[in-house]
Amino acid sequence: MDDILKLLFVAVLLWNVEGREQSSAENTAQMKQRNISPIRIGIIGGGIGGCAASWFLREALDEQAEIVLFEKDKIGGRVATVNIAGREYEAGASVFHEKNMILQEFLKEFGLESLTEDDSDITVISKGSEVLFKTTGWTIADIAKSVWRYGLSPLKLGPWVDDYLTRFGKIYPLQARNCSYLRPTDLILAADEKFGEMLQTPLRDRMLSEGFAENFVDEIAAAAMRVNYNQRTSVPAFVGSVSLAGMKGPLHSVKGGNYQVAVRACQSASDVVLSSITTIESLPDGRFRLHTSTGGLEDFDYVILAAPLRKDGAGSRGNIVAFDGFPSFFKPTEWIGAYQRTVATFVEGELNRTFFGSSTSLDAVFNIEDNGSWSSIGRQHDVLGDSSTSSGFPVWKIFSTDPLPGELISEMFLRTITTSTTQVDWRAYPNYGEPPLHPPPFSLYGNNLIYLNAVEWAGSAMEMSLIAAKNAALAIVNDVMGVDPESCGVTAPSVVKDGQEL
Ligand SMILES: Cc1cc2nc3c(=O)[nH]c(=O)nc-3n(C[C@H](O)[C@H](O)[C@H](O)COP(=O)(O)OP(=O)(O)OC[C@H]3O[C@@H](n4cnc5c(N)ncnc54)[C@H](O)[C@@H]3O)c2cc1C
Repeated sequence: MDDILKLLFVAVLLWNVEGREQSSAENTAQMKQRNISPIRIGIIGGGIGGCAASWFLREALDEQAEIVLFEKDKIGGRVATVNIAGREYEAGASVFHEKNMILQEFLKEFGLESLTEDDSDITVISKGSEVLFKTTGWTIADIAKSVWRYGLSPLKLGPWVDDYLTRFGKIYPLQARNCSYLRPTDLILAADEKFGEMLQTPLRDRMLSEGFAENFVDEIAAAAMRVNYNQRTSVPAFVGSVSLAGMKGPLHSVKGGNYQVAVRACQSASDVVLSSITTIESLPDGRFRLHTSTGGLEDFDYVILAAPLRKDGAGSRGNIVAFDGFPSFFKPTEWIGAYQRTVATFVEGELNRTFFGSSTSLDAVFNIEDNGSWSSIGRQHDVLGDSSTSSGFPVWKIFSTDPLPGELISEMFLRTITTSTTQVDWRAYPNYGEPPLHPPPFSLYGNNLIYLNAVEWAGSAMEMSLIAAKNAALAIVNDVMGVDPESCGVTAPSVVKDGQEL
């Protein structure tokens, strides 16, 4: 073995054994020593996931990577604000949990401040106009009231969510050891193999088996599922836990707007092209050619698809993008899934409390009625944390499955300030249905074509996309460096080669 090879061998060994993060300087030095030419990476989608993937790749490979990110609409994707009477409000992803470590690190890195959400809101759980439970905004009184109605279940929820987040948080040290995973289920099981059961059991069954009261699950957990995913407690327990973590804080948002994280992370790309990718073409030399809607063609060694493969997308066969030149066994259409429509309607006005069955003031209502015409309504603060308005009436955000009819808005409000309401029509999250959960793989075609949003089928949240972004970057770096980190804790090892599971 000549000296350079020995050096490389020792370096790779150290990387694996010590389990430390390889710096960009070490990676680039190794790439130069081994005559690996700089690689070209194309990222489709400039949401928080695609932008973060660019950031992690730049961090690991520095100038050894040319990263081109394509965004068809606006940087941020489902992390976006709307302007109501001159103020910005979160219209998509609005809050994150204190234990979301990648988001916290990005805030530090980019010098962004966070706002802490107020947990003393007066909240109503209702079924249509029937009030099931109402908090007072006074912690002690609310604990007593909730224990009276639900027994010890409310006291169990905090530790339950904490335990889940702590166990899932074991993924961070694994990623710091350069571990990358082929499938979302591998990543989740690597964090904690006990999650296996939570992927296969409905949230409701899981909570009941853990001693939560039936009315607590059918009212509080159901409300969390309605407000966060606009779905039911029959979804897999792992997905449901992501949703419950959004109910049990401390919760934060980024001062000035959550989208800033995506914008700042995207500055790491060599080039951001505001254009839609229509086709991913597989070339005979193993590279990929991306076709833009304006007729542009660019070739890449690696491609990260950082946008959901959705049934109602714009491309061929209802997908967001078409695939061309792949062998017949490659069937990405298998991974196209239905996304839940969720409409966010913003209204500045005076609430008609009696419509919501209340004679006193309230800040939020969660409607758990099956097939109800609306899911939740909540008083909003703007992205600077200010909930005042020049009219003196709050801005409210209403979530519903379909656009709200004007007559319903007239019933919900005694008077509205704006003549027209603002609606944002989202294809918000996967339609999870019931377990078992079979998320698509990250590695769609070896490690050269990575599907970041596969992670959403195990849970959709900003932090989930960030974890998947880091996984995508690690998979590419490991592939380039030809290493396979050890002790990554996958309980059921799986190998995908050329898109086929071996
Ligand atoms: C109403 C709502 C509320 C939410 N609330 C929360 C919350 O409180 N907390 C939380 O953590 N999460 C929340 N989420 C979920 C969170 O927004 C998503 O999980 C996360 O933002 C997904 O980010 P992403 O980058 O993976 O995908 P996206 O944000 O969807 O980004 C994909 C990007 O790809 C672009 N694109 C698509 N096709 C193409 C193409 N062919 N060519 C080029 N570009 C393309 C899109 O325009 C988009 O910008 C919420 C989502 C919604 C809709």
